[in-house]
Amino acid sequence: MRRMKLIQLAIFLAMLAGCAKDPADVSEAGGANLILTNARVYTLNWDEPSTDGTPMADAPHDGGGWHPDAEAVVMQGGEILFVGTTREAMEYRVESSRVVDLAGATVIPGLVDSHTHVFGLGAVLDQVNLFDVSTEEEAVALIVERAKTVPEGEWIVGRGWDEGAWANRYPDKVLLTEAVPDHPVFMDSLHGFAGWGNQMALDEAGITAETEVPVGGEMRLGADGEPNGLFLNRGVQLLSSAIPEASRETLTNQLLLGLNQMAADGYTTIHEAGVDSQGMSILEELEAKNRLPIRVYAMLSLRDEDLIHQWLEKGPDKDNDSMLVTRTVKAYYDGALGSRGARLLYDYADQPGNRGVSGDGYGFNQALNAEAMKAGFQVAIHAIGDAGNRESLDILESVFKEDPSTAKNRHRIEHAQVMSPEDIPRLGQLGIIASMEPPHAMEDKTWAEERLGPERILGAYAWRSLREANARLTFNSDNPGSDHNIFYGLHSAITRQDKNQQPEGGWYAEQRMSSEEAVRGYTNWSAYASFRENDTGIIEEGRWADLTVIDIDPFILADESPGDILSGRILMTIVNGNIVYER
Ligand SMILES: [Zn+2]
Repeated sequence: MRRMKLIQLAIFLAMLAGCAKDPADVSEAGGANLILTNARVYTLNWDEPSTDGTPMADAPHDGGGWHPDAEAVVMQGGEILFVGTTREAMEYRVESSRVVDLAGATVIPGLVDSHTHVFGLGAVLDQVNLFDVSTEEEAVALIVERAKTVPEGEWIVGRGWDEGAWANRYPDKVLLTEAVPDHPVFMDSLHGFAGWGNQMALDEAGITAETEVPVGGEMRLGADGEPNGLFLNRGVQLLSSAIPEASRETLTNQLLLGLNQMAADGYTTIHEAGVDSQGMSILEELEAKNRLPIRVYAMLSLRDEDLIHQWLEKGPDKDNDSMLVTRTVKAYYDGALGSRGARLLYDYADQPGNRGVSGDGYGFNQALNAEAMKAGFQVAIHAIGDAGNRESLDILESVFKEDPSTAKNRHRIEHAQVMSPEDIPRLGQLGIIASMEPPHAMEDKTWAEERLGPERILGAYAWRSLREANARLTFNSDNPGSDHNIFYGLHSAITRQDKNQQPEGGWYAEQRMSSEEAVRGYTNWSAYASFRENDTGIIEEGRWADLTVIDIDPFILADESPGDILSGRILMTIVNGNIVYER
């Protein structure tokens, strides 16, 4: 009788769902291993919104706003088996199934942070956290605290002070040397474009007034003509390179700290933006031991030329379904806007005579970049300034002309932060993805306009202009430089307001994204940026069982009270059908 009922239901479901598997067959194959019920599921399995953000006719959106398009998801063996109602989903239940009643929580496709530095995040979690400090005194006090537990003579590293916000009152070695005389100390900034240290660090690094400063770098001198401890752009490495290398064991632990943090924060995949030989070797080891908690799409650092040559021989990973995929080269074309290193077409509005740093002088190996493209790699070029972006597009376009087969590899401009209006349409025309960080707009808004002036600012953080010019976007955090909290990311994208909901109405609000665009930016658009739009990014039968469960409905809140998006929490992260985080 029960069997009969199941079969009838199966026929009904098959008719309903088209390709869904029969629950009876599933039951014979061991049954579903995970069933989520009573949820607000947004599958994103409908047409993409128009370039002005208007939802398409088949979207679950009407005069009353958004509503979820399913309430249950069934998973088995790393795949999504069924998406639909709770009643239907329960037909897949067997004794060994885990059923989670989500009681109205929201399920979205597994979040993808498409530009991270998770080794850096792990190091931050392991080092002195300067992210929330607003003064030099506070930062030094934290180092004094840490020095109490570190043997004399051992390095202490702090990270995260904001070089953009502090640019007009950079610290120097004086206070730090007084407070911490017996440990070499390096104070790395939020984006790594500035750093300062105490006298012991300068001594360990052998830095004197005669030290040669690399092209594109700066070493500040004090009134006495001696280095004052502050370094900018490529000069930072003079100090940071003196820190003894972390052991492989330390790096492995830091990587796992970072990956587990990302899992706890809802991410099922990260795109790691620049991995060196040692980093790759650690990732490969963890993958071989089945220890990666979430998927890693690793971008090889173009600065590590030995690593690039190895991969040129091997070729890109194309049809690799493992947790670690490598088919991208990360290049760095110019500096950052905050520290006035981004390459601009005209002088910085607040520093006449300076147009930033870029290109060969900045360590960008154009020939090797072209070689990687011709070997079938996707390249992801860091470009921030309007000249940096234009020149990066020129470089990509010239390789497309030499070898048209390279044009199909979904190359990316990382940040695409300040664009000249003439260059914005080129991304869509050339099929180049703009890989952008909604939180950057919010963090930079206090000083970006001073750097750029009132005209160039209109092409900065210009998500809507890029969409309207048919560019594909992918959203990400660039952590640990920015907070990767997804609710902050969505809120930034949707409102153009900071965590204090300022400014009223949003900063250059015409560039806002709709709630749908914001969620797609972190899910299926990011899947496209890694060639995985058919495997993930949408909740549909047959795709990877990668899902994120959150306690708010960002679609509804965006319309009703967007500020409340900020208080969202991650309830569950599912990768390959396994729960890797549960609140
Ligand atoms: Zn980055």
